[in-house]
Amino acid sequence: MEKGNISVSTENIFPIIKKFLYSEQEIFLRELVSNAVDATTKLKRLAAMGEVKGELGDLFIEISINKETKTLTISDRGIGMTTDEVKRYINTIALSSAEEFIKKFEGTDKANIIGHFGLGFYSAFMVADKVEIFSKSYKDEAAAHWACTGSTEFELQATEKEIRGTDIVLHISEEAKEYLEEQKIHSMLEKYCRFLPVEIRFGTKEVENEEVKDAEGKPTKTAVPDVINNTTPAYVKSPSELKDENYTQFYNELYPFSEPPLFWIHINTDFPFNLKGILYFPKFKPNVELNRNKIHLYCNQVFVTDSVEQIVPEFLTLLQGVIDSPDIPLNVSRSYLQGDPNVKKISQHIVKKVADKLYEIFKQDRAAFQAKWESLGVFAKYGMLSDEKFYEAAQKFCLYQNTEGEFFTFDELKEKTSATQKDKNGKIVWLYTTDRDGQDSYIQSAKNHNYQVLQFDTLIDQHFIQHLEYKQSDVVFKRVDADTVDKLIEKENELQSVLSKEEEEKVKSIFTETINDKKVTVEVKALSPDELPVQITRSEFMRRMADMSKLGGNQFAFMGEMPEQLNVIVNANHNSVSGILKTENATEKVKRLYDLALLAQGMLKGKALTDFIQRSVKELSVAE
Ligand code: ADP
Repeated sequence: MEKGNISVSTENIFPIIKKFLYSEQEIFLRELVSNAVDATTKLKRLAAMGEVKGELGDLFIEISINKETKTLTISDRGIGMTTDEVKRYINTIALSSAEEFIKKFEGTDKANIIGHFGLGFYSAFMVADKVEIFSKSYKDEAAAHWACTGSTEFELQATEKEIRGTDIVLHISEEAKEYLEEQKIHSMLEKYCRFLPVEIRFGTKEVENEEVKDAEGKPTKTAVPDVINNTTPAYVKSPSELKDENYTQFYNELYPFSEPPLFWIHINTDFPFNLKGILYFPKFKPNVELNRNKIHLYCNQVFVTDSVEQIVPEFLTLLQGVIDSPDIPLNVSRSYLQGDPNVKKISQHIVKKVADKLYEIFKQDRAAFQAKWESLGVFAKYGMLSDEKFYEAAQKFCLYQNTEGEFFTFDELKEKTSATQKDKNGKIVWLYTTDRDGQDSYIQSAKNHNYQVLQFDTLIDQHFIQHLEYKQSDVVFKRVDADTVDKLIEKENELQSVLSKEEEEKVKSIFTETINDKKVTVEVKALSPDELPVQITRSEFMRRMADMSKLGGNQFAFMGEMPEQLNVIVNANHNSVSGILKTENATEKVKRLYDLALLAQGMLKGKALTDFIQRSVKELSVAE
């Protein structure tokens, strides 16, 4: 037997591993299973080259718990290690990689570290008082036994082992005894190992045996090893091997009990970097909490994280699915990741793929694309707001829907409106509604003028409108109730008023006195006689400011305190308005006209509404 000291400089490594990494303890299992997978893959590669003699046998990895001995064992049938190799790989390489890792780790913000590859074998000491290795190399009949109790001393001696491969035995410490619970280990394996390329067995499960029936004629049950993982998940296959149902099955595997996805993108790139994955577009419901099922990041089929925010642009986190890349550096901090050139390239590649795919579907089947626009729109607009490249690509397929349910692309809409909706300053004014029912009277007025009214009713639309105005200087947006219809889009030829200036002043003061509300500004304007006599509008600018403050933009916070300002526009050319000047009970009539305007806006409520109805009913009874 050989006894030795690992290295003087590493005296502090075990306490650091134990305490420092406490919050990330679970990764020890991922590290050890990954090593077992590596050893198995290496063996297969050597066998393919004719370097391994004899049968390889069944190459699986088995995890087992022994509650009596308080051990957790990870066994593989991979290449194994000779005594010399244990010395080299475990006492030198593994140790120095652990040292290096800890140095890096100390320098970073612990909470910010993602993926912790690199700590490797010694992470076992996070949960074990003692670790043993039993290993038999494919090259050697003799086997090696290594043991270390978490001091700098180790023991190494020859031993006997029947099967080729390595058993790593962890003597679980008192503080870490949860790792002797089946449930715990099972859930960790499911999290980290579900797509590993080598079969992972843990415990057994019962299966029904249809062939052999018991006395009652029921199928007998047999216990078979429970396999944790799917060694060939859809995303590692080539797209030509897969049918639609394979993609939806894989989606179900990732997110059981979820609604089916709208469609997906299969990414399979090996130059200039390696990237595989399937991204799914879920159904988004506007204004509903997004992002329950996150994208999972894998590295060579080992689960790394489901917070990929620093790797893909934020809008892509609305998507679901898996991406796998061995080229994303994982053992560094997130802030570093953002600046990493590989990560940037990968991220740009994904953005491009997503935009290409959307455009492809748009071109292939526009009707189907439009049918999904409610979900796609949220995503596309978010993308256009946050990524310049995506904005440009998406201009080709981003859709604008009018109140008739027709869809236009940006160019189509511009063409449709450039003659009719250009104002006297040469800007095209696009009208929109945020509430079709509530703003119906304005929508009807606009339609009478042959104007398109667009539907913009999700939270993101407010930001989207601002962004488009900023990018496209020839287009401005106005909510359909921002002004009376001929002021929304101001043309050269203004209508003449039938009232004199004095009469207009008089009408204004009667209205102002009758309404008697500080929030209300009265204006008398010469509109078409077909327009309503009184309309209530909200200034586009003031309303946007108030909306922004509600959405939490703090530079507008003061707006939250301000009461909403309303404009009452009195149509000088409507005969019921000129009638006011001739009648005795002008106040009564003005009240009526104002109530009607409030009613059209859905703003007549409570007692005011009841009074209005009662007055109307009374008048009708008198009339009969
Ligand atoms: P890394 O895997 O990053 O190289 P580790 O500390 O995990 O670092 O392991 C160090 C080395 O020990 C590995 O490179 C490998 O050569 C050897 N090793 C670890 N586990 C096994 C195993 N189960 N079978 C064969 N060799 C192993």
